[in-house]
Amino acid sequence: MSEKTVKTIKNFVGGQWLAATSGKTEVVPNPATGKPLANVPISNRQDLDNAVTIAHKAFQAWKKVAVPRRARILFRYQQLLIEHWDELARLITQENGKNYDEAYGEVLRGIECVEFACGVPTLMAGMQLPDIATNVESGMYRYPIGVVGGITPFNFPMMCPCWMFPLAIACGNTFILKPSERTPSLANRLAELAKEAGLPDGVFNVVHGAHDVVNGLLENPDVKAISFVGSQPVAEYIYKTAAANGKRVQALAGAKNHTIVMPDADLNFTVNNIMNAAFGSAGERCMACSVVVAVGDIADELVNKLNAAAGNLKIGDGLEKGVFLGPVIRQSHKDRTLEYIESGVQEGAALVRDGRCDSCANQEGYFLGPTIFDNVTTGMRIWKEEIFAPVLSVVRVKDLDEAIAFANQSDFANGACLFTSNTTAVRRFREEIDAGMLGVNLAVPAPMAFFPFSGYKKSFYGDLHCNGRDGVEFYTRKKMVTALYK
Ligand code: NAD
Repeated sequence: MSEKTVKTIKNFVGGQWLAATSGKTEVVPNPATGKPLANVPISNRQDLDNAVTIAHKAFQAWKKVAVPRRARILFRYQQLLIEHWDELARLITQENGKNYDEAYGEVLRGIECVEFACGVPTLMAGMQLPDIATNVESGMYRYPIGVVGGITPFNFPMMCPCWMFPLAIACGNTFILKPSERTPSLANRLAELAKEAGLPDGVFNVVHGAHDVVNGLLENPDVKAISFVGSQPVAEYIYKTAAANGKRVQALAGAKNHTIVMPDADLNFTVNNIMNAAFGSAGERCMACSVVVAVGDIADELVNKLNAAAGNLKIGDGLEKGVFLGPVIRQSHKDRTLEYIESGVQEGAALVRDGRCDSCANQEGYFLGPTIFDNVTTGMRIWKEEIFAPVLSVVRVKDLDEAIAFANQSDFANGACLFTSNTTAVRRFREEIDAGMLGVNLAVPAPMAFFPFSGYKKSFYGDLHCNGRDGVEFYTRKKMVTALYK
């Protein structure tokens, strides 16, 4: 799409494109140029309540559609997503800024969620025990719960919604997605393609906006469950408010992921992996490596190699071939990152590589070069808080015990990684580290769709995670039937 044509985005409700009654809009710029791509509606409570009414009505019919028929629609949907792969990836890069290859990979992550949801006849099956007493049997049956609300972040406009709605609708629920207002377009294509796949109107709806739509989802009594992915303070608010209103809630939050590098690690291999984990998607990943813990006497060599590798990363518009590092999402996010870099300097960390000095930092778009701090300590803001940008901290420790103890002080517990060739160290790491998704000799240990995305501490609020069996539990409720046969 040419940036000369600025799109007007609409809500997708009951299978129709609806303008928001609020009349309010926000500009969606291309972060690589700063130029407007679209205007997104900032819908109000009335827009949301209207969507809930329609989704609630659609639920009465959808919940009765035979489970294999629901699965068959998802099979067609999977095929359509594959056919539109390139288009979807381009849309992600244009609005989010991540490079095309990463966007292409993100589409795959979304497709995998649909593929998992296609197994719903098996996933939703109950269980029975024929003889719990003489002539008495007991059976557990699973049912959908109703209208589900999904609220998603800017950094994975395809993957995060796909953690939610394919499985939710496969289980017989209807769904209202409130995508990030910063990357809104992809959600509309997801909805359009779902309709093309044969999904009945009202089963999957998209209402764009911000706080008003979110609060509407949290308050409307016909919304029975909330799936949220986003920053920690908002996740905590969503969890508390949704729970206070009697809803199920899963709220996936921020992160500060540590990667421990042992003296016996293959350093070149490790550094390549860390480049991708720390600076891929401009560091805007909940599984980004934001802290490297260098163990023993490899620290100097490791820091030198990280610095050299970071200097070779190609920065630019993610649609250009060979570009590795795209822009961050907004000028305000860039400004916030610059404040973090300044705070690191003020608090005494050693600035090894200063992304503010890369020429990209002064060009149009919201670019910032890769930044590396050494000798970071637990008292510093750059260690405590999620920066969500291409800024990497290195800490130095003497052994694995100290490395694990250091990482475990974090408030967050999403991911943690270990690079080593020592199997004993791997086992110790697995048993002792306080994080939910672990990587051994790989630096982005994001689980696939058939496993739960299992952060904890301040990285997750709730009980049942997104994806895998947890997702099926979250989107269904059970009836136990006990019967005496005389
Ligand atoms: P965000 O919290 O700003 O926004 C997420 C969603 O919440 C958006 O739809 C937004 O409109 C809405 N929102 C924002 N502020 C709100 C408020 N005050 N009241 C009601 N709704 C509000 O997050 P973001 O900047 O879009 O995404 C980045 C964050 O998401 C990072 O912290 C990242 O770690 C996290 N994230 C976590 C995971 C995970 O699996 N744990 C995955 C992806 C992203």
